[in-house]
Amino acid sequence: MADCPKCPYVGLNEVAAGAVTVDECPECGGRWYDAGELEAVAKSPDKLRAAIEEETDPRKSDRPCARCGGGMTNRGLLNRLLRVDFCPACRGFWVDKNEVGLIDRLLD
Ligand SMILES: [Zn+2]
Ligand SMILES: [Zn+2]
Repeated sequence: MADCPKCPYVGLNEVAAGAVTVDECPECGGRWYDAGELEAVAKSPDKLRAAIEEETDPRKSDRPCARCGGGMTNRGLLNRLLRVDFCPACRGFWVDKNEVGLIDRLLD
């Protein structure tokens, strides 16, 4: 499995998150969601899907994709203050530990 985009040489572990299995870093607690997984576990999948399409305030991320190692985009999601890393090639998301619970709160 891939390494954490934040912690060098730390491998991600598979953990159950609702209906899907996501990859979590044992070091920093951040999570990698493959394409479609973030919506699958969200409280309001349609609302989140619309927010994903919007790509709020995109910037170049300095972290590599956990899946393909390519460059990611750091972007707002639902709110400009909630920043996540998005891989345009895999369409997966890297979400920091403190942001995981924030997504459902912003969907309220
Ligand atoms: Zn990590
Ligand atoms: Zn990728």
